[in-house]
Amino acid sequence: MTTNNLIRKLLQLKDLRVVSFVFRSRARELHLFVKPYKNGCRCPQCERRCKIKRISRELRSWRDVCVCGRIVRLLYSPKEIECPTHGRIQEKIPWADKQARITYRLEYLVLVYAQMMTQKSAARLLRMSNSTFSDILHRTITRVRDGHRIRSLTAIGIDEVSYCKGHKYVTVVYDLERSQVVWVGPGKKRKTIDRFFNEILSDYQKKKIEWACCDMSETYIGAIKDHCPNAKLVLDRFHIVKALSNAMDEVRKQEWRKATGAEKKALKGLRWILFKHPVNRTPEDKRILAVIRKSNRRIFRASVLKDEFDLFWHYKSEWAARRFLKTWCTTALKSRLQPIRGFVATLRKHTENIITFIQSRLTNATAEGLNRIIRIIKNRASGFRTVDAFIDLIYLTIGDVDIPAQIPARFRTT
Ligand SMILES: [Zn+2]
Repeated sequence: MTTNNLIRKLLQLKDLRVVSFVFRSRARELHLFVKPYKNGCRCPQCERRCKIKRISRELRSWRDVCVCGRIVRLLYSPKEIECPTHGRIQEKIPWADKQARITYRLEYLVLVYAQMMTQKSAARLLRMSNSTFSDILHRTITRVRDGHRIRSLTAIGIDEVSYCKGHKYVTVVYDLERSQVVWVGPGKKRKTIDRFFNEILSDYQKKKIEWACCDMSETYIGAIKDHCPNAKLVLDRFHIVKALSNAMDEVRKQEWRKATGAEKKALKGLRWILFKHPVNRTPEDKRILAVIRKSNRRIFRASVLKDEFDLFWHYKSEWAARRFLKTWCTTALKSRLQPIRGFVATLRKHTENIITFIQSRLTNATAEGLNRIIRIIKNRASGFRTVDAFIDLIYLTIGDVDIPAQIPARFRTT
């Protein structure tokens, strides 16, 4: 076996031949002068063997994966060929994408490591700077997703996610059926969501959407009404429960402000007990609530209203759910608790879009699950310098395209 062949076998360099090599000890780099493996040059589009038209002297280099901490580079001067169908064109480079400066193998590693660990450690493992790493990641993901068409959507969820201190947001569109993220755009204004509907979806796709789930913000509700003529709007259960819990908590805060020293002591630690779902309360929690029942009627009333509202989500028939809402609202208004009354007003305004839940059983719960993953991504990076880096990672981890799988199979080795 020749040395060149040995290097090729050791480094598992498929589809190419090692012509010669240089080891640069100072830079700790191995430079391999290579040639696409089989004789002759191939057209990048039809893979046909074609005549060489021009031999260029320009030596291009592609970075490959590190071996024992040494950087490996492939060097080659691509030739210009003439294809009977595609005309004059640069020959196909089997180990890398057209414009790429790194091999498919390295691209694959960057994608896989980015899913597994922080970018900092990944960059260190691959012996590159953080900025090079995120640059490669961005370019690869953009290339793979370029021209990608979203598959038919029937149920979508729209939500906003913050990604940086200082209230920076991205709008995320979920495919609730397949629990994937189909689109992410910077910002949370109408402009952002309009871009999704106008640029990404065709009119036909918009008509096919049957259900849309979002929070109570007018921006998203308005956009769904304008763009999806056949979609039934379902307000997200999670956001409604949160609004009610916040109203209840507002009552607690009001009472806390009014309370004297001894009373404050009794109210301490109450917040978490009130927020808990009734089934999750311990006997100790129940004892504390029984005391509150006697000592502070207002807080107790608010908590009972909150617990009662939970029944709504279990109704199977629409008219019964409607009747329940009506009675609940009347009782809630009679409670004379201002924050709860505010919640009733919101509820009445959106009744129709809340009732749709009974039929669809649709919540952004899948989306909330995905949201948790997004939070993990965010925490792992401890803040992103650019919005692009954040969007890249969302697409990579829970996007609708399996990005690493788009790298040709024979280069997918770790
Ligand atoms: Zn061709």
